[in-house]
Amino acid sequence: MARQNNKKNNSHNKNKNTHKHSRPERSPITALYADAEGEIFDAPGIGAVGRMGDDLVAIQPGDLIPLPDTADLMFLPERYAVGIDESGELVVLEGRAVAAILPAGYTRTMLPGFEKEENASRLPLYGYSAVVVYKDELYVTAIYTDENHKWSPEFYNTPDLKKLVHKVKKDLPENPLIDHLANCSLEWHCCTAENLFYRRWECGIPTSPVCNANCFGCISLQPAECCPSPQSRIKFRPTAEEIAEVGLYHLETAPEGIISFGQGCEGEPSLAADNIAAGIKLIRAKTDKGQININSNAGYTEGIKKIVDAGLDTMRVSIISAIPESYAAYYRSNYQLEAVKESIRYALDHGIYVSLNMLYFPGFNDRQEELAAWKEFFRELPVQMIQVRNLNIDPDAFLEIMPEAKGTYVGTKAFLQELQQEFPQLVIGSFSHYVE
Ligand code: SF4
Ligand code: SF4
Repeated sequence: MARQNNKKNNSHNKNKNTHKHSRPERSPITALYADAEGEIFDAPGIGAVGRMGDDLVAIQPGDLIPLPDTADLMFLPERYAVGIDESGELVVLEGRAVAAILPAGYTRTMLPGFEKEENASRLPLYGYSAVVVYKDELYVTAIYTDENHKWSPEFYNTPDLKKLVHKVKKDLPENPLIDHLANCSLEWHCCTAENLFYRRWECGIPTSPVCNANCFGCISLQPAECCPSPQSRIKFRPTAEEIAEVGLYHLETAPEGIISFGQGCEGEPSLAADNIAAGIKLIRAKTDKGQININSNAGYTEGIKKIVDAGLDTMRVSIISAIPESYAAYYRSNYQLEAVKESIRYALDHGIYVSLNMLYFPGFNDRQEELAAWKEFFRELPVQMIQVRNLNIDPDAFLEIMPEAKGTYVGTKAFLQELQQEFPQLVIGSFSHYVE
């Protein structure tokens, strides 16, 4: 797959195939496609279409924001671009579909429309968004959901990083977590690993090589915003003392210091509950500074309870749906959604700040039945925050494994607005923030 700089250029297109599609007037929003070399062109006179669930829909100006500077463009192999011609027909263009990969903090509201070649292989795990030309600029179907200042690339991988790693290795010479995190920083440029060496903000402490779920798009086995490679998944189990040594080192001096278990390319941290709980107790016996966070699927309630009791401050729970069948279809776990809810209930009862890491796919989470289930969920479990995350996945493969829609979808903006209206206390964003 070729990645392109943000580039466009007029060129002709050939209509390969047509379907009827209603489009009342000529769209000022133009479709894009890529040629065999991966060069990206616009298709004058062809309106852009995006995808919601299985449906192709005409993109409207209100769906668009300017393409963020740090987004990447890529073409979709074995998939033709599609658009709408002036008579309202859906047309398949002789060129590859183009997608934008958004930086963290942006939530896509539509996927790119495309038509697959026969026997096309599955797409790699990225969060593909529709991208178009509008007012002579590139625009994407997305909304800005969180301020991403701390995750800005200029703060990472700076020329002094090697020296800083060397210094921490000297300070904590016996701790195997430091070697692991040094490799995550220097080799894979993992932001939360680098924060340990920069002595600031959120630092990941991986603890568990194993998981109790088998997610269809497992984040620890795919490139993600902070975990670029499955190779960096941790292979050993750090002891309580090793966890506490790194945790103390970070929390005692880091501004807005957070240590996070379950940061990305590890398994499920609550399966290392005994070591984590004992580590937290050692840390909290010496300092009350900073925050201790866990990112968890929360399916192992007994482990979560131990970690909460030891002195956890915040918990972020990965979740895709509040409907048991949808949850089970994606997580394929050895526990049920009810166990996740029990863990959340226990954490809330013990004063923990709970966020949901909501894996988001336009046209799935905003289905009417999913929205109704979320409302029920938040009435029962008043968590403080939702972090909306673009689900990195092949759209067709995802929809094949999920239950069929019972109703229609309401759209991403309406979905979030309805939740916000009914639950005004709910913070809607995309990242963990330092909780004052
Ligand atoms: S819970 Fe996390 S580590 Fe486990 S399978 Fe799912 S994404 Fe992977
Ligand atoms: S998230 Fe992955 S790359 Fe980052 S520190 Fe943890 S194990 Fe290493």
